[in-house]
Amino acid sequence: MNKSSFSSLGFADLAAGENLGRAELARILGATEPAEIEAVRAAAERVLLENCGDGVYLRGLVEASNACACDCFYCGIRKSNRNVHRYTLEADEIVACARQCAEMGYGSMVIQSGERSDKKFIDLVAGAVERIKAETRSEEEPEGLGITLCIGQQTYETYKHLYEAGAHRYLLRIETTNPELFAKLHPEDQIFESRVECLVMLHDIGFQVGTGVMIGLPGQTLDDLAGDILFFRQHDIDMIGMGPFIPHPDTPLGGEPFPDVKDRVRLALLMIAATRLALRDVNIASTTALQALDPIGREKGLKFGANVIMPQVTPQDVRRDYQLYPGKPCLEENAGECQSCLGMRIEFAGRKIGYHQWGDSLHARKRRERTKA
Ligand code: SAH
Repeated sequence: MNKSSFSSLGFADLAAGENLGRAELARILGATEPAEIEAVRAAAERVLLENCGDGVYLRGLVEASNACACDCFYCGIRKSNRNVHRYTLEADEIVACARQCAEMGYGSMVIQSGERSDKKFIDLVAGAVERIKAETRSEEEPEGLGITLCIGQQTYETYKHLYEAGAHRYLLRIETTNPELFAKLHPEDQIFESRVECLVMLHDIGFQVGTGVMIGLPGQTLDDLAGDILFFRQHDIDMIGMGPFIPHPDTPLGGEPFPDVKDRVRLALLMIAATRLALRDVNIASTTALQALDPIGREKGLKFGANVIMPQVTPQDVRRDYQLYPGKPCLEENAGECQSCLGMRIEFAGRKIGYHQWGDSLHARKRRERTKA
């Protein structure tokens, strides 16, 4: 297509295109007029409903520990932040959260933490995973609760150990796929290529693999974000979790000027839509950071093509200590209140809750079929 016909395409036509490339994705991400944004949104919602149906899958989120060995310049629980009260849940507490997920019909849970690779912590997580699998199996749900881990970069052996313990999905955000930008956001010993290698190892071991980026990082361009989407495709990613960057005052990036909140939310929603349009059959989470900036941010995420929500199940007394960014919602509610509130929110978005199921992405299911055949 020549340049002039490309630029004259309307957003609806643009969004309907298959195999979107970098320039087209960047253009979608740059939509500003309400009519343009609505054209992108409607196309993303249509692609989601046609490919994945109207189910919204739930993963109860347990923030198992805020102890962290990393010093990411953006993150509120970075090791150098002395204002954080550090905690690590006991195995019993993690298992109790899992039981709560099973009772509420969530079907799946995510165990997330700061990054630690010491044996004590890995044994704690692996032990909890084994117990959860054993204790949540029933006649109705012979596979037990689905378990996703999000505990950072680890060795191949550790990942394998955690997989064998019974976790079947792993989330590791790449944060940004622009290596220069990555280097500006992390200390020298945190290396972009090592993080990419972890994603490759996770696939290799058999995990369904999730990754994602922060949206609106200082210096990040629309072209960078378009490149992020192509990276997801290139790495055969099954699940995506992305959210707006929100400066945390106790971090080196805390003083970053924050643009208009509406602009940041719009860009995050367009990123969800563009990812849906480009990847079609993956799971995309509507993340809590979206809701931190907009009281109905997560519902909007669903309307822009997301199909996963992660309700809080972290014990209330430590929720406040796990603040990656300021303004985290749901600090006061208990898990039951989060459940009923979410039910209403999902119905409001015109969608159905996928209770009692793992809710693996269609992308992962297709790969499984291919490898069986
Ligand atoms: N230690 C784990 C879990 C990280 S916390 C790991 O390395 O995978 C989950 C995510 O929170 C991070 O991957 C990052 O994308 C996001 N996050 C951290 N600080 C943030 C901030 N200031 N604004 C928005 N998102 C942030």
